[in-house]
Amino acid sequence: MPQECIFCKIAAKDVPVTVIYEDEHMMVFPDINPVAPVHVLVIPKKHIANLLELAPEEVSLMGHILSTIPKIASQLGIANDGFRAVVNTKEHGGQTVHHLHWHVMGGRFMTWPPG
Ligand code: 5GP
Ligand code: ZN
Repeated sequence: MPQECIFCKIAAKDVPVTVIYEDEHMMVFPDINPVAPVHVLVIPKKHIANLLELAPEEVSLMGHILSTIPKIASQLGIANDGFRAVVNTKEHGGQTVHHLHWHVMGGRFMTWPPG
């Protein structure tokens, strides 16, 4: 794991967060700078820099994460009205933390297209 990766540190519990969901492969915690009433980050515990760096053997991990997101949305009370799940990728995508993560946001109406 890259020493400087904040999400690896969170996954390793070196940096404490409020854990919303955790299992062997993934973790969910609140975004430190929420942009919606509900805004959580969903990360694989394994360091993967972004979607472009996904290895073929990580496809099942992605399936696991994607199938868990709706359960988390239900738990957070944003499933009925809906939510947005976003993966920012590299510079033009607006990625600032280079450890793959989904933003899951809800609790308000969100416009399209994004800025
Ligand atoms: P990105 O811009 O890479 O798509 O999203 C990174 C997100 O991580 C941002 O929304 C930012 O607020 C959040 N973030 C950055 N550092 C920390 C941290 O130390 N703790 C938490 N909980 N969120 C963080
Ligand atoms: Zn990392």
